[in-house]
Order: sequence, then structure tokens, then C-alpha cells
Amino acid sequence: MKDHRKMSKAELLKRISQLELLNKQLLTERQQEDRLEYAWSGNLGHWYWDIKNNIVTFNPLKVITLGYSEDEVPNSVNYQFFTELLHPDDYPIAMQAMKDHLYHKKPVYETEYRIKTRSGDYRWYYDRGRITQYDDDNKPIFMAGIVFDITERKLMEQDLASKNKILAKLSTMDGLTKISNHKTLVDFVKEEMSISTKTDQPLSIVMFDIDDFKKVNDTKGHVFGDKVLIRVAEILKRAIRDKDLVGRYGGEEFMLVLPKTDLEQAKIVAERIRKAVEVDKMIDDQKITISGGVKQFANESITDFIHDADQALYKAKKNGKNRIEH
Ligand code: GH3
Ligand code: MG
Ligand code: MG
Repeated sequence: MKDHRKMSKAELLKRISQLELLNKQLLTERQQEDRLEYAWSGNLGHWYWDIKNNIVTFNPLKVITLGYSEDEVPNSVNYQFFTELLHPDDYPIAMQAMKDHLYHKKPVYETEYRIKTRSGDYRWYYDRGRITQYDDDNKPIFMAGIVFDITERKLMEQDLASKNKILAKLSTMDGLTKISNHKTLVDFVKEEMSISTKTDQPLSIVMFDIDDFKKVNDTKGHVFGDKVLIRVAEILKRAIRDKDLVGRYGGEEFMLVLPKTDLEQAKIVAERIRKAVEVDKMIDDQKITISGGVKQFANESITDFIHDADQALYKAKKNGKNRIEH
């Protein structure tokens, strides 16, 4: 190649325009190749960043997917053209990824970000590149990379995450009464037992059981019985504080877990709930009562703890039902 220091200005300008032409040709070819690589779904093609002159050359697709038409794609853009469109939450992450690569902390620049479209909403891009040229002082002067539109995948991931959250929540609930299920109750009791042991704060449980429920089922049918269960669960749920937990322990048995509550306070709560069920209109004015057994935690095993509450419940049944015992 001719030494440009010896070139005249006219020769230089001519050389520049030749290079521009060649560059345009190479870019067009590159962009056509990008299109051939469409097996990579979401591929928006390559980009080149002349760091020294801050000029970004890219496949127009990158801007077209942002809602711009082909003739709106600027001839020359700088790095900031894209970074200014980044979602504020993703901006620092993308900047860090770029810095990490420019300062040799990471072998590649790789990041995901949301970028603002012309209409103002965001699309997700996966961007990846690396320094391809350094100057004599080993400073990066040129980067090349590739960018993908990953919006569909991100939306699917978000959809999946929210569905998983709903499923996780559902798996802790009893299907019929929509209050906590047996496992959730047991896990909660275990957790509160260990807190109570550590903090020396009281902990109590109440085991409730519907009185003569078999008779209700036998005379009114199981569908009616189910409605009663739902109604009793509602009354229980309404009666408790935020830190308490109520659940369906099994069949027509409900457990109430009362952290930071001693036996005397627990008996008052249980009695209030017993009364609320007794006076409730229920379904078709059906009379429903419950019995309850109260137990304060005394550092025994969970089996013994629950068994003692059960024993107290048995006592309540034996002593005539519709009552609370401990
Ligand atoms: P007690 O006062 O001694 O508790 O008498 P009970 O009739 O309530 O006690 P028992 O254990 O003999 O009967 C409980 C009944 O609860 C039997 C069962 O059919 C009913 N049951 C359990 N789970 C469900 C349910 O999901 N739906 C309906 N409808 N009934 C249920
Ligand atoms: Mg029972
Ligand atoms: Mg019963």
C-alpha cells in the first residue's frame, strides 16, 4: 500500500472514498451473511465499534426491530446512540459488562438489556462482543460483536416465573378450603418451635374438630358438608392475626398456630372462635359447633406437642363438645 504520508490531499480524499466504498461493500455482504445465519433466532447481526472515533456500524435490523423504518436508520451513530435507549435498570449492568471487558477483567463483553423502541416500550437484547484491535500502547481501539433480540424468550421466562409463583402458593394451600394445608402447618409449627426455644417466647396451638360432622354429611350430603368446611375455614381465617397461621390439618380438623401466645391467651382466642362458629348462620341456618384442644409448647417434640393438643380436643369431646379444653 502506498504510504499516505507522501500522498497529496487529492490523493488522500480519493483513497478515503475508495475505502468508504469498500467498507460499504463489505458491510452489505456481512449483513447478507447475517441474514443467512437466521437459524440463530433473534439474530440482529453484527456490530462494529470504532472506539477511537466513536462510530458504531451495525446491521440496520438492530434499529428496525426498535420500530424505526429503514430510511430512519441514521448513517452514522455513536456508542451513546444505543446506551441512551437502555432501560435505566439495565444501564449500569451493561456499562459494567463493557468496562469489565475494556479493562481486561472479562475475556468478552456479554450482557442482556432492555432497549427502548420507537413507541416507548422495551425489547430485550442479548449483546456480545470483544476487542479486536489495539493501538501501539495496547489501548483498545476497535470492538466487534453480535446482538440478538431475546424478547420472546424473556417474556416466556417471566410468564413461567409468575406461573411458578402461583403454583408454589397453590401447593401450600388446601384445595377445598383455600387455607394452609397439612404440610404448611407442620412446617410452620416446626419453625415456630425453634424460634420459641431460641427466644424463650411462648407458642401455642389449638386443634379444632367439627362436632358430629358425620351426621351433617349423612343427613345433608357431602356437597353440603364441603360447604360447611369452607365456611368454617373462612371464620377461622378471619379470626386470626397476621403472625398466626390456620390450616386444614385433615378431614374436618383445623389447626391454629399462635406464636408469642401463652396458654391463657390461646384459650381466649380458641373460645372466641368456638363462639363465632356457634353463632354463625352457616349454610341454610345449619347449626354447626366445634370443639378445641389447646396446648402451649413446652420444648417437647412436634409429635408430642400435637398429640397433647389432640388429647385436649378428645377431652373437649368427652366433656360434651362445643367447648375448649387444655
Ligand atoms: P365428633 O363430634 O366426635 O368429631 O364426630 P364426627 O362425626 O365429627 O367425627 P367423625 O370422625 O366420626 O367424622 C368425621 C367426618 O368428617 C367423617 C367424614 O366423612 C367427614 N369428612 C372428612 N373430610 C371431609 C370432606 O372433605 N368433606 C366432607 N363433606 N366430609 C368430610
Ligand atoms: Mg375428626
Ligand atoms: Mg368431628
